[in-house]
Amino acid sequence: MFTTTSRHILRGAAPRCARSYSSGPAAQAAEVKKLGVVGAGQMGLGIALVAAQKAGVPVTLVDNSQASLDKGLKFADKLLEKDVSKQKITKDESLATRARLAPTTKMEDLGDVDFVIEAVPEIPDLKNSIFSNLAQACPPHAILSTNTSSISVTRIAAATNSAEAASRVISTHFMNPVPVQKGVEIITALQTSPATIVTALAFCERMGKIPSRSADSPGFLANRILMPYINEAIICLETGVGGKEDIDSIMKNGTNVPMGPLQLADFIGIDTCMAIMEVLHRETGDSKYRPAVLLRKMVDAGWLGKKSGKGFYDY
Ligand code: NAD
Repeated sequence: MFTTTSRHILRGAAPRCARSYSSGPAAQAAEVKKLGVVGAGQMGLGIALVAAQKAGVPVTLVDNSQASLDKGLKFADKLLEKDVSKQKITKDESLATRARLAPTTKMEDLGDVDFVIEAVPEIPDLKNSIFSNLAQACPPHAILSTNTSSISVTRIAAATNSAEAASRVISTHFMNPVPVQKGVEIITALQTSPATIVTALAFCERMGKIPSRSADSPGFLANRILMPYINEAIICLETGVGGKEDIDSIMKNGTNVPMGPLQLADFIGIDTCMAIMEVLHRETGDSKYRPAVLLRKMVDAGWLGKKSGKGFYDY
């Protein structure tokens, strides 16, 4: 066990959490000697790679598709090669990082991890069944974390079907691309224990990330703020307030963001933006989160942004 208590507990982002810690003894972060990651896609691979590289932990990388594992590890090799060629790391460090990644298609191989991060697609039933399985497959002390962008962490915790396991559920919401973005949201379920929170905070810091705390509320912090901004840019476009280049240019050159909201929507994926706006709208019932009509139409047209070759711009 580490003897330090994370400074974030003292800082306490949400008043509800700050209150619950001030009364009891301070929780201590447990040591994470081995990580599990479930889902070797865009996010899972990035999380596994950064954990192996920055935190120096061995990672069991589980995916139900061997093709996804092969593709992910090929991508990891490419990223590591790039770091070596830019002299960010040595060849030996790159080989040591790569050797810490252990791919498998078997969930049972998570029997010796201290912390597991789930990064399978954003489908509630799929996440629920994975968490029900994780509660069985992982050791009884393991932290069970989700990378969900929008699903209630409290609901995911309940899917473990055990109050004890639910207390070990939390969300570490990494941002894309994981090796580049420093921020990570730590979202606590109603059931999450203080020990789970401090362990998650400490491990994210070990990965070189800067955690922000968020309550389990639709969209959490990042998407609650970002998606209405993107949606409003789309409404400005569809109602003729400005053209796409003007919208992106004024935000890029006027507010010092690296890219405008419409280009950013293309990079995130138009379908992902739509799904998150729908969650915000449905879960809050607040009309201010109504998805733009054009956003819905673009999803219908299959114009999903960079990944489909066409979004607000052509790729
Ligand atoms: P992805 O589609 O790139 O990867 C998902 C992986 O999960 C695939 O490799 C797939 O084979 C695997 N998988 C599917 N079912 C599985 C199962 N039953 N067991 C094991 N593996 C399984 O998805 P992604 O973009 O990496 O997103 C993963 C999660 O991260 C989602 O919850 C998403 O909302 C969240 N997220 C995504 C982004 C982003 O920008 N892509 C950003 C933050 C959070």
